[in-house]
Amino acid sequence: MIKKIYKFGGASVKDAEAVRNLVRIVKEHKDEDIFLVVSAMGKTTNMLERVLEAWKVESEKWKVATADSLSTFHFPLSTLKTVMEYHEKILLDLFENNTAHPVIESVSELFIELWEKLQNAELPYDYQYDQTVSYGELISTTIIQEYLNYCEVPCRWLDARKYVITDENYRAANIDWDETRLRISKLNDEHFRGVVCITQGFIGSTGETKVSEEGFELIKHATTLGREGSDYTAAIFANCLDAEEVTIWKDVDGLLNADPKRFKETVQLPHITYSEAIELAFYGATVIHPKTLKPLQNKNITLKVQSFLHPDHTPTVIDGKADRNIEKIPSYIVKDHQTLVSISPRDYSFMNEHNLQLIFAACDEWGIHANVIQTSALMLSCCFDHDDNKLKGLLASLRETFQVKYNKELTLFTIRHYDNSYTMGDEFLKGRKVYLKQSSRSTLQFVINAECGMRNAE
Ligand code: ASP
Ligand code: MG
Repeated sequence: MIKKIYKFGGASVKDAEAVRNLVRIVKEHKDEDIFLVVSAMGKTTNMLERVLEAWKVESEKWKVATADSLSTFHFPLSTLKTVMEYHEKILLDLFENNTAHPVIESVSELFIELWEKLQNAELPYDYQYDQTVSYGELISTTIIQEYLNYCEVPCRWLDARKYVITDENYRAANIDWDETRLRISKLNDEHFRGVVCITQGFIGSTGETKVSEEGFELIKHATTLGREGSDYTAAIFANCLDAEEVTIWKDVDGLLNADPKRFKETVQLPHITYSEAIELAFYGATVIHPKTLKPLQNKNITLKVQSFLHPDHTPTVIDGKADRNIEKIPSYIVKDHQTLVSISPRDYSFMNEHNLQLIFAACDEWGIHANVIQTSALMLSCCFDHDDNKLKGLLASLRETFQVKYNKELTLFTIRHYDNSYTMGDEFLKGRKVYLKQSSRSTLQFVINAECGMRNAE
C-alpha cells in the first residue's frame, strides 16, 4: 500500500526544467510506495481567475467563437490564450517538439472542455469558478503523468474529483469524510502495483456523475477546497490511505521562522509539533495550508517540508512528538490586509456578556473569523481578514446598538516564543503605529500600520 504522499505545488512544476526535476525526485523514490498530489503549474490558478474576470466582462463576445476555432489556438480572449501558450511551451520542451505525441491532443481536449464550461455565463460565479479553475490541476497532472511515462516511470492518472467528495460550498468546499473515505478505500494494491499514481490537489466534486453521449462517466459538479488547497488534498489522501508520511516539496529549505522575502536572517525550524504548526498557520504562516494538519495529526502521519531545489537538505519534520531538547526558536508571522473594528455600546453600558453575545452573533452571521480579539470595559476590538461585504454586513447588523469604528489595510504581526528575543521583530515594528498589542506566555501580537486614520462608520 501507499507509504508516502508527495505534494508538488505550483512553483515545483512551473516550467519544463521544474517538471524534469520532479521526475528526478520521483525516480529516486519510486520504490518507496509513493503517491503524487500535484497543483496547477506556476501561477495558472491566478491566470484562470483572470480569465474568469475577463469572461464576466466579455462573455457576450465569447459566444460567437466556435469550437472549431479553438483547435487553432486562437482565443478571442488574450488571458486564456496566455494560459494555453504557457502550457504549450512546457509541453513542446518536455516532449522535444513532437507535436504528434498524444499528450498534445489530451491537453487541447481539456482546453476545449474548459472553454465549454466558460460558456455558461448565467451560472453563479462561485460555481462557475470551480468548474473552470479546476482545469489548472487537470491539465498539469495530465502533462506530468504523460511525461513520467515518457521517462519510463509508469504512472497512473487518478481523477481527484472521483475521490474527494465535498458539499456544494463552491470555492471553499467542505469534505464529506465518510464518502471520501469510502471512495479512496476502493483504491488498492491493484491500482498501485508497478506504477506511481498521480492526482490533482485542490479539487474535488459533489460526487454526482452523468454519462456522456459516448458512454463515459463525467463529473457533474467540480468543487475546490480554497486557494492553496493542494496540501489539504495530500493530507486527505494520506489520512484515507493510512500513509506513514506526507512530504510537501517547496522552493524553501523547510519551514523557516519567518518569510525570507520580508526578514533578513531567517532560520529553519528543524522539528515542530502539529499543534505548533497549527498555531503558525493560524496566525498567517503561508507555508502550510491550515486545514492540512488535522487529518495528519488524527492518524499520527508525519509531515515533512522539503526543498525541491535542494532535495538533500534536511527537511522540517512535523509530528506529534514534543521535543524539549530543541530550544523554542522565535517565529515572526505577518498577515496583511487586516480590518480592525472597535465596537462600543451606544448606551455606555459595559462590554458585558450580553453585548459580547450580540457581537459574536453578528460575526457568525457574516462569516467573520476573528484573528485577534481584545476587550476593555467599554469596547471590543476585533481584527479580521479584510472583506468589504462582510464589513458592510457587520456594520449594518451592529449599527443600532453599537458605535463601530474601523481601520482597513492594517497588518497583524505575530511573534511566537518571543521570550527568548525578538530583535527581528523590533526592526519590523520600527516607525509603525501600534493599534493593538496583546501577549500571552508564548505569543506576542501587534496590529500595526499607520496608513489611514480611524474612520467613523457612520
Ligand atoms: N492551484 C491552487 C492554487 O494556486 C491550489 C494549490 O496550489 O495548492 O491556489
Ligand atoms: Mg500553490
